[in-house]
Amino acid sequence: MLIFSDARCFGRLELCSDFRKHRAIKALGPDGLDAVRNRNRFMFYCERRKRPIKQMLLDQSVIAGIGNIYASEILFQAGISPFSPSCELSLKQHEKLAQAMVDILSLAIEKNGTSISDYKRVDDKTGEFQDFLKVYGKEKESCQRCGNPIQRRVQNQRSSFFCANCQC
Ligand SMILES: [Zn+2]
Repeated sequence: MLIFSDARCFGRLELCSDFRKHRAIKALGPDGLDAVRNRNRFMFYCERRKRPIKQMLLDQSVIAGIGNIYASEILFQAGISPFSPSCELSLKQHEKLAQAMVDILSLAIEKNGTSISDYKRVDDKTGEFQDFLKVYGKEKESCQRCGNPIQRRVQNQRSSFFCANCQC
């Protein structure tokens, strides 16, 4: 028996003989967990675009596996504003960003994902990463680093949470 439960309707099922040859898979960039190893490739894309860095993180053809929650958390750890033009990031910021991608995604996997509304694992348990969120969903709460209020702004129809003092 195969059960496909797609509460948020982002998923799809397709049958193919070799998934690596599927056009959707071939269109993906390298996995965010390999961000340190693929930092030069990511920098290459960023240097050629003026798009805000958060949009670059959400572009699955540039780097795969980062959703809206994790993009906010990654940028907070790296100390980078979600609105910074991707072409203006320094080498030092790219180093911090790549390490933050690996750290945040690894912890999220270890904690079985984030259960904010409806996400459940196949064994009916919920994820635990929501207990480790530092900015996402924390609007008006105090920043854990500096105490300033966390802000929320809609960016490209998605919520971005950030600390204006710690992220520039
Ligand atoms: Zn702060």
